[in-house]
Amino acid sequence: MRLVRTRASFDVLVIGSGASGLASAVAADRAGARVGLATKTTVQACNSAKAQGGIQAAFGDDDSPEIHAQDVMRSSHDTADTQLVAVLTGEAPSAIHWLEELGVEFTRSNGGYRLARCGGASRQRLLQVGDRTGHAITKALRDAYESSEGAELPHHVLIGLDHATSGWSASFDTKDGSVEIEAGAIVLAAGGRCFAEAEQRGELSTNHPNATGEVTQIAVETGAQTRDLDALQYHPNGGAWPATMQGYSIPETTRAYGAVLLNVDGEEFTDSLGPRDAVSQAIFDEVEKGKGVLTPDGRPAVWLDTTRITPEDAEISLPYMLRRYRAAGIDPLAEPIYTYPVLHYQNGGLVIGEHAETTLEGLFACGEIAGGTHGRNRMMGNSLLECTVFGRRAGRAAAERSKT
Ligand SMILES: Cc1cc2nc3c(=O)[nH]c(=O)nc-3n(C[C@H](O)[C@H](O)[C@H](O)COP(=O)(O)OP(=O)(O)OC[C@H]3O[C@@H](n4cnc5c(N)ncnc54)[C@H](O)[C@@H]3O)c2cc1C
Repeated sequence: MRLVRTRASFDVLVIGSGASGLASAVAADRAGARVGLATKTTVQACNSAKAQGGIQAAFGDDDSPEIHAQDVMRSSHDTADTQLVAVLTGEAPSAIHWLEELGVEFTRSNGGYRLARCGGASRQRLLQVGDRTGHAITKALRDAYESSEGAELPHHVLIGLDHATSGWSASFDTKDGSVEIEAGAIVLAAGGRCFAEAEQRGELSTNHPNATGEVTQIAVETGAQTRDLDALQYHPNGGAWPATMQGYSIPETTRAYGAVLLNVDGEEFTDSLGPRDAVSQAIFDEVEKGKGVLTPDGRPAVWLDTTRITPEDAEISLPYMLRRYRAAGIDPLAEPIYTYPVLHYQNGGLVIGEHAETTLEGLFACGEIAGGTHGRNRMMGNSLLECTVFGRRAGRAAAERSKT
């Protein structure tokens, strides 16, 4: 692994070091390309590492990629791209095995994967690494990339893209001034914009401060097409109290393991395992009807009754969440917790084809910056999957494209 601080050129230049960027950098390197991985701040900084709940793949005896695809289409209200969805769900099992080869150890029970049912899913399909799944995946991918010949360019903020004779040219702001880098192909893996959007709206967000969306704008200014960019997703279960947990995304696996949403009267007012948009809307509506509760600092909320989770499930699949709440003085297994939807995910993004190429030749996009795979409403656990499946495809296709 080399650090590059001056002008350079690569076969494949990846922008962003979340799960999708790392997956594409590893795949491009393995396809024989000279790879550069440029990222805004440190290589560790991203949303992906914050992901807790898990990653979907059809491994259950009663499940299949086709049933997984049907769940995605239903949750998206038939707005997702059926071809991208078929790739996502069809390659999910092999993506999981690829991650395992790189060192990810998914939680197991009874001789198989410990599978949970997440919101909008008709089967138990969510694989987990405790409740630090994103951390485990990004660490394994980072370790793989850092043991390759690929270069890392931390503190490189993409500010422009242009066509070049060799393919593409990218401009960056760095601590040492601006830098131009040329590449045969570029993979945009710079994530979504929910941190910036929440700041503008004066709301809470689950996102990392680097989730600001300027790379999408740069691609649009360069001529790339987008879809569903206005469709932003609220995570139904943002932490609402105590103050240190505000904006925390309470893992959806709390509901998979038995927690339910309750109003001020202790009544269940919605299917706690419905699709995300439906559950978030039900909470907004319940509060609007005056059936919500107020946090000690006066914020709107409802109850998430986490006392219904068995201690065994909690210890295996929610240890990080338990530690965070207990450190803040609340035991979720002994009392319900306050929750309210929080801005979480950019559903739409750059239009891509099956090999993650945007509408501009030699410019690829994967992960949250890309649109189509989830339509206007993503299911939980399909984003880490999209990062792996389409990150891997983008890296391989970009390596191939850079040779032409
Ligand atoms: C708290 C939380 C919990 C989640 N839980 C789950 C879950 O359980 N399961 C699931 O499937 N999904 C989950 N998600 C969603 C999922 O983790 C993310 O959508 C996904 O990981 C995004 O990956 P990415 O590679 O596209 O982007 P990111 O991981 O956000 O990485 C983007 C990268 O681009 C860099 N970047 C940004 N702008 C620039 C620029 N101008 N120049 C250079 N680099 C730039 C950033 O620094 C970062 O390194 C969760 C998200 C959050 C925030």
